[in-house]
Amino acid sequence: MDEEQIAKFKLIELAEKLGRLETFLPIFRKILADIGRTTDRVGFSAAWKGINPMLNLCGISIRKSPERITSWENLEWLEVLKRAYFRSCNQVICMAPHCTECGECGSKLADGHTCEHKDIPDEYSN
Ligand SMILES: [Zn+2]
Ligand SMILES: [Zn+2]
Repeated sequence: MDEEQIAKFKLIELAEKLGRLETFLPIFRKILADIGRTTDRVGFSAAWKGINPMLNLCGISIRKSPERITSWENLEWLEVLKRAYFRSCNQVICMAPHCTECGECGSKLADGHTCEHKDIPDEYSN
C-alpha cells in the first residue's frame, strides 16, 4: 500500500469506529447512569464485565492507572459521572480547579478563559 492507500484505509477505520461509537453511545450512557442502582445488586465487577465487550467492539480499551489517588472511593456515583463528563480533563480525580460553567481544567469562573456553558446529560443528573 502506498501512503494514499494507507491514509484511506485509516480514514475508513476511523469512520467505522465512529459509527460504532455513535451506535453504542446511548447504550453506554444508559448503562453508566444505571450503574449506581444495579451495582447494589451485582457489584462493579459484573457491571464492568458487561460493558467491556461493547467497548472492545468500539475500539476503546480502558486500563487501570497504577498510581491513581484513591479518594474516588468516597465519591457518589453521580458525582463521578458528572466530573468525568463535565471536566475538560475528563478526570474524576484532578486536583486543579475547574470552571463551574464549562468545566475547563485549571480555570476559575470569569478568569478570562474562553468559557462556554456545558450541559450535563439528563442521565447524569438527578
Ligand atoms: Zn482537571
Ligand atoms: Zn469556564
